[in-house]
Amino acid sequence: MDIDKIREEFPILAQEVYKKPLVYLDNAATTQKPKVVIDAISNAYCTINANVHRGVHHLSQLSTEGHEGGRERVRQFINAKSTKEIIFTRGTTESINLVASSFGEAFLNEGDEVIISAMEHHSNIVPWQMLESKKGIKLRVIPITPNGELDIDAFRKLLNERTKLISVAHVSNVLGTINPIKDIVEEAHKINVPVLVDGAQGAPHIKIDVQALDVDFYVFSGHKMYAPTGIGVLYGKEKWLEAMPPYQGGGEMIAKVTFEKTTFNELPFKFEAGTPDYVGVMAMTAALDYIENVGIENIAAHETGLLQYTTSKLSEIEGITIYGNATHKSGVISFNVDGIHPYDIGMLLDKQGVAVRTGHLCAQPLMDLLGIPGVVRASFALYNTHEECDKFIVALQRAIEICR
Ligand code: PMP
Repeated sequence: MDIDKIREEFPILAQEVYKKPLVYLDNAATTQKPKVVIDAISNAYCTINANVHRGVHHLSQLSTEGHEGGRERVRQFINAKSTKEIIFTRGTTESINLVASSFGEAFLNEGDEVIISAMEHHSNIVPWQMLESKKGIKLRVIPITPNGELDIDAFRKLLNERTKLISVAHVSNVLGTINPIKDIVEEAHKINVPVLVDGAQGAPHIKIDVQALDVDFYVFSGHKMYAPTGIGVLYGKEKWLEAMPPYQGGGEMIAKVTFEKTTFNELPFKFEAGTPDYVGVMAMTAALDYIENVGIENIAAHETGLLQYTTSKLSEIEGITIYGNATHKSGVISFNVDGIHPYDIGMLLDKQGVAVRTGHLCAQPLMDLLGIPGVVRASFALYNTHEECDKFIVALQRAIEICR
């Protein structure tokens, strides 16, 4: 990978912050966008913009081709069987809410159990909690081991005849842990329980093959993988999506409407009420092409290199606690410095041009479990360099000096 060339493709990276070169290490929150993605948005509005599916005119046909071509591109990217299984949403959060609402309506009743894990993002906790109060279901939580891995023995013990769904992160946005999805699916399927995987932090870094994983639902956000905000994906096995009722009502999702009765459109349109973000889909197509051109395995290997390098440098600093030391770990390092609030570290890093995340990272239950108010998180993408990791370490040492 020619990192210098890659960096040139991301215009924002050339910026200075407080007269210091920007070191962007908040990629787990959102990634920056390459020029091809920005151009795809501009091209769509400059040359083909028209609403999709409804028009006989030339532009509408081009737009529809771009949109449906994007669906096929996503299908290939995650190796789904059919484009019927690819639903466009606003992102991971909306995808999980769609399943909670629709699967919940069709299949969950009082006393049924949904299993999540202790390392989930609020997006994979709150929608299920809402079903607790709405439908009387019960949430069960897989505990984690001291090094931040799922306790698989405990998971096995949680499975029972009341279990109706398992919903877990592929990769933790706090601990970086890559969870053993295949093993979880195998266990769950032994008792015919479907599995939803929150792939927000998985799809950007790991080659996803939904058929090989045999997951029932896999959800992710475009903006964490070099695509724009506001576009995301729900993959669902056709047998589940067919059996689930629509999530929202409106245009696009109908076959026929009368005042007496409405029949619904076929998959995937049944779940896509209203004008979709077809420009977002076209730009996401460009992002997926971009990732495949570089090679997701190359991206992962580069990020793992940065993770190992930075972890070892960080460990040399006195008073550092790193959260999450899983054997299989993605490019995320969450840590604290003894006696210094994470927010202060984040502010002082920012003043030196280094962008990191601080706080509970939308995982308050995990923070409670760890007994901390929050963390500082550095997270990597394909355009980060070893030099930037060094700058981050130097800036962190300076921040610690100022606070001590
Ligand atoms: N799940 C995980 C593991 C995440 O990291 C995030 C984003 N921080 C989300 C869900 C939510 O993603 P979005 O805000 O794009 O819907």
